[in-house]
Formats: sequence, structure tokens, C-alpha cells
Amino acid sequence: MLRIASIFVLVIIVAVGGGYLLAGFAAAPAIEVMRPRKAVGTDGTLEMVVHAEGRLSRFDAFLEQQGQRYRVFSLDDPSSGTKIQQEAENRMRVTAPLGKRAIPALRPGPARLTVTAARPVLYGLRTLETIASRDLELRFTPPRLSIASRHHFVNHGGAEMAVYRVSPSEVESAVQVGDTLYPGFPASGAGVTNADLALKVSFFALVYDQDLGTAIRLFARDEAGNTARANFDHRIFPKPMRRSRIEITDEFMRRTVPDIVEHSPELGSLPLSTDEELLQAFLRVNGELRRKNADKIASFAAETSPQIVWEGAFTQLSNSQVESTFADHRTYFYKGREIDQQVHLGFDLAVTANVPVHASNTGKVLYADYLGIYGNCAIIDHGMGVQTLYGHLASLDVKPGDRVTKGQTIGRSGMTGLAGGDHLHFTMLVNGRMVSPVEWWDPHWIEDRVMRKLREAGAQAAPASATAQAR
Ligand SMILES: [Zn+2]
Repeated sequence: MLRIASIFVLVIIVAVGGGYLLAGFAAAPAIEVMRPRKAVGTDGTLEMVVHAEGRLSRFDAFLEQQGQRYRVFSLDDPSSGTKIQQEAENRMRVTAPLGKRAIPALRPGPARLTVTAARPVLYGLRTLETIASRDLELRFTPPRLSIASRHHFVNHGGAEMAVYRVSPSEVESAVQVGDTLYPGFPASGAGVTNADLALKVSFFALVYDQDLGTAIRLFARDEAGNTARANFDHRIFPKPMRRSRIEITDEFMRRTVPDIVEHSPELGSLPLSTDEELLQAFLRVNGELRRKNADKIASFAAETSPQIVWEGAFTQLSNSQVESTFADHRTYFYKGREIDQQVHLGFDLAVTANVPVHASNTGKVLYADYLGIYGNCAIIDHGMGVQTLYGHLASLDVKPGDRVTKGQTIGRSGMTGLAGGDHLHFTMLVNGRMVSPVEWWDPHWIEDRVMRKLREAGAQAAPASATAQAR
């Protein structure tokens, strides 16, 4: 009887011991810290995800600096401003404020973030713990910004240029118009003589659908997330926007819509047999595809050259009939009833079929292919976010990567895409946003808005050696 009992006890000991060891092989919590990666500023955020089976017995984050330990987060007692999301049964995301505003005692310099997560196993007899840590740099001084150029006149729907200084020179900086950032490029790329790295040039725009009262100012943000803003003098000029009505006929839709649908896989397959199906497809093309095309066009801004490669005024297609306004609010009618409204962003330059279309200025071809409502379309980059677009071409003579000079033939005029007749659809782009080309065709505008400011910036900039001696 005693023997049976001792075997029983032994079995229990083996079972418990084995279980204890096996529990050690169960998965410990996994920690992933998304932010911050390297630097922390005044208003930083800790963002992390923990993966764990079952309940967590501990989940916290501390920042250590010069022997002091500051609590950033604790699951037991989350501070205000902390967000905890149970994203799945075994995945929790935490965002908590981490910076000088949340922990005023922090000082600039190195610090170490340590995150600990633990979960009980084997009825609480064992704990599986994971510790993740990251070395961080704390910086609380915001970048410094100041305007260098004078007289900024912005036409609604048009562009402008500013020259400014930012330090440290390597931080992200831009002219901010509402929510839109127009990045600044080193002024040396605009041919400014003696330009040091802190001097930047930004082309920006107040686009047609932004309010006349939209804030326009300089913006900078460093790696630690410290931001700076600075106002600069500018005047906004309203521009009348034209309204027009467009009659859509079955003949027009039969000629344009099937071809566009065939070239635009993003629309999927659309039935096009009946007049009603054709009309529905036209509305998809005129709305949804127009927006998708605009997004694609905007994406080429990222490929712009940091150097200005254009020279002098942009040229308008010769012998073409020009419409008088940019951003034409068009109302579409079909058999007497209103079916759609869109804003036409660009200039339609009426010409006869198959006339040579020239590069409006020197640049590099980024796109030369079919592009939805624009049919055969070319996009040329001229540097610092300035680009031109040519639509409805019958044929293209260039390919992406080609360097083109002002006046070089890039294709022939036509009526591909959503075009009622032979014409060139031409628009200027500033950082992917469509702006009126009228300004860029005008040598006086180019001189006063761009060249004058670049010359003045060059005259102000001290020679590099003199700057070094002054320090
Ligand atoms: Zn057009």
C-alpha cells in the first residue's frame, strides 16, 4: 500500500516537473516597438505591439537616463493620453506619450527605453518574460526657420516660389499650404551662387479647391519630431473660375468610353452594350477614373530632380487656340438632363490632328503611355517638383528616362482618351498638384516670381569661406 502511494507521489512529481519544464517551451510574449526608432522630441509617441497567449501579468515601459528611471507606460496604471487597443485575441497595441511634455524631467542626450512583458504559465507557477530595449537620442530644440525671399504673390490656382533658411540644414522642410507640404530643395540646385546647405528653394501652390484664407507658411520637422513653423509675407489674388456646360452624346461616348475602359484595368470589366450601360461607364470614367488618374499623376512628384533643369518661360503649343481660364467647372448634360459635374484642370489647346507637340521646356520624361482620360500622355519633369503633362496625343515619340530639350517633338496631337476633338490637354504640376500654366508661359512672371528671388538669394549669401571664418 505504501509502495503504491510512493509511486503515485513520484508520478505526480514527474508530471509537475515535466509540466514545469514544458511550460518553459511555451511562447513568451513578443514585443515590437514601432516608434520611436532613434530620436525623441518634445511631443514624441511610444507605439508598440505585444503578442501573447492569455493574460499578461506585466507589461510596462521605462526610459532610463543618467541613472534616473521614468515610467512611460504600465498596463496596471496607464497614464492619461495612453491608448490601449486589443487588436486580436493575442495582440495588443499601445500608444503612449513619450517626450519632454509628458516627462518634463528629461534632458537632451542619450537615453534607453526598456519594455517588459510577462505572462503566467502552469497556473501561475512559472512566468515567461520578454525584455526589449532601444537606445534613443533625446532632442528638444526645434529647427529654426527664416524667409530669405521678398514679395510673394499667389494667384488662386497658381504657383509661387520661396527661398528660406532652415537649420539644422538636413531636417525635412517645406512651404506648407493648408495641409499640403511643398518640399524645399537645396538652393544650389537652383543655381544660387554661394548657397550653403541651409538655404532652400520651394515651389508651392494654392490649388483651385483650397480656400483663399488657407494658411501659407514655412514648416520644418526634425528626426525627433520637433516641428517649427514661420509665417512669411504673401498676398493672395482670387481668380474667377469659369463655368461651362458640356453636352454628352451617344456618339461621343461610343467613340471614347470603350477605348478608355479597355486601357484601364483598374475599372474592371464594364458592360457597354446598351446606351444606358455606356452612360454608366462614362460616369465611372469621368469621376472614379479621373480621380485615380490624378493620384497616379501626383505620384510622379516623388521622382522629381533636386535640380532645376528648365530655362526661361515655358512655351505654349504654337498655332493653338487657348481657353482663357484654368479650373473650368463643367456641368455635363445628356439628353437635356444634368448627369455629372467635374473640374477641368488644365488648358485645352485646340489644334488640327497630328501636329507635332513640343516639350514646353527642358527636362526628363517620367511617363509616356496611355493614362485613362488623358489617353496617350507624357509627363516631363523639370526639377524641384515642377512638371508638365501633355494629354490626348495620337502618338508618343519619347519614353521614360529620355532627356528632352525645350521645343523637342515628344509626340503628335490627337483625340485619345476623353477628348471631344483634336486638342492638346496641357497642365503644369507643382509637387503633383495641377496649377495654371498661364504663369509659366509668361516671361515676366518667371523673371519676377523666380529668377529675381534666386539672384537676390545669391547676392545675400556670403561666400562659403567667409561664413566659416565668422564662426
Ligand atoms: Zn482637357
